[in-house]
Amino acid sequence: MQIKDFKKFIKKEDKRLKKRFHTEDKGKRILARAVKLSEELGELSDEVLGYNSMQRKEKLDKYKKEELLEEFADVVITTFLLAEAMNVNVEKAIKNKMKKINKRYKK
Ligand SMILES: [Mg+2]
Repeated sequence: MQIKDFKKFIKKEDKRLKKRFHTEDKGKRILARAVKLSEELGELSDEVLGYNSMQRKEKLDKYKKEELLEEFADVVITTFLLAEAMNVNVEKAIKNKMKKINKRYKK
């Protein structure tokens, strides 16, 4: 997958979500996606605990690695959807942050 395909998917999903949840109100859309990101982070946290066998037996018995992968994807997709709602260019932000992080190691 290339970043341009992913960005195209985000634009398409943004349109579908606006239509599905009638969130023409930008403020509500941003809040909904920020809350959704929290939900997805919680789900990823749950899978991380399962991966480390740090949950009660009933949950560990149901643990599947595919769900861990799915939750990583949910967090990334939801982050990009939130950025889309806020007109944030994540690709540019990541490039700038990578430069900043790399600088830390040049001292
Ligand atoms: Mg999820």
